[in-house]
Formats: sequence, C-alpha cells, structure tokens
Amino acid sequence: MTDPVSEGYEQLARRTMDPAAYERRAREGPCFVCEVLAGNPRHPGEIVCAGDDAVAFLASYNTLLGHILVAPRAHREQVTGDFGLEEYLGLQRLVYHVGEALRHELPTERLYIMSLGSQSGNRHVHWHVAPLPPGVPYDEQQFAAFSWDRGVLDLPESARAALARRIADRVAALQRATPSVG
Ligand SMILES: [Zn+2]
Repeated sequence: MTDPVSEGYEQLARRTMDPAAYERRAREGPCFVCEVLAGNPRHPGEIVCAGDDAVAFLASYNTLLGHILVAPRAHREQVTGDFGLEEYLGLQRLVYHVGEALRHELPTERLYIMSLGSQSGNRHVHWHVAPLPPGVPYDEQQFAAFSWDRGVLDLPESARAALARRIADRVAALQRATPSVG
C-alpha cells in the first residue's frame, strides 16, 4: 500500500463535495458526533483516542491530511458556556496531545486549531485540529486551506485506517508521557 504522506500534498486524490447535500445532512440529520460515538456505519469515524469524557477521530470531509476532530462524549453545544473550567481544560489536554501527535507524525508547517459549529446544524461542540503541510502558497493557507472548492481528500479506507492507527499510537504515547494530574 502506498503511503499517502510520502506521495506529497498535491498528489493526494480528491473528490468533489456537494455542499448542498452536506448542508441538508448537517441541518436535518441527527448529530454527527453522537452518531460517530454510537458507531453508526453511515458516520464512520476512525477513532484516534477514546477517552472517558472526550474522543478524537479523523474528520470525514477534510482537505488537510490528518485533520482530526476532538469532541466531548456528552452532547454539549457552547464552546465555553457548557463546561466548567476544569472540564474545559481537560478537553484542551486532548486537543494538545492530538496536536503534538500530528506534528510528530505528519509534515507540519503550522498547526491549526479551531471550533466552529452552528445552532442550525453541527451543534455538538468540536475542535478541529489540522496540520498545514510545508509548501502551501500563502493564499491557500488559513481559512482557504479548509475550503472545499478543490474537493476533499479521497483516501482509500485502508489508508485512512492506517493513518488513524499511527496518530492513535502517538496520542497514546504522549498521554503516557504526560499523565493527567487531576
Ligand atoms: Zn451530539
């Protein structure tokens, strides 16, 4: 099997997205994070960390190789308002470990972390953690790096699973090295 990373960023296969169909699913369908956690095969998420309170899994519609979503298991919506401080910091601990795992596993010029979502769809709060590889032109970085205009990555399932395993191993090693003091 070819290694998607060694093929280079520009060579990765892409497929076009149907933004209207995506919007319908996001606004009318069940919560996709809860569906991933429930193991619904229509929402496959290659889990890279399954903690007691939070999970991390590969994003389905991604433009950056290794784009991970971190979310609480509980269906919370407000990025700060639905958490106590310690609970929030616990989630950020996983965001940190995922970020470091990505930085060590994939060529990363800049690590992106953000939380978006909408009360009209994609309500379950989640953090995007995604590595921007080196060599991307300036005007294709930042928000443009997440644009679906050039399609989304279309990796074979086996490559996604292998990537998820590599990131999961890194996350586990980092968590062992810096265990929670709480
Ligand atoms: Zn949910």
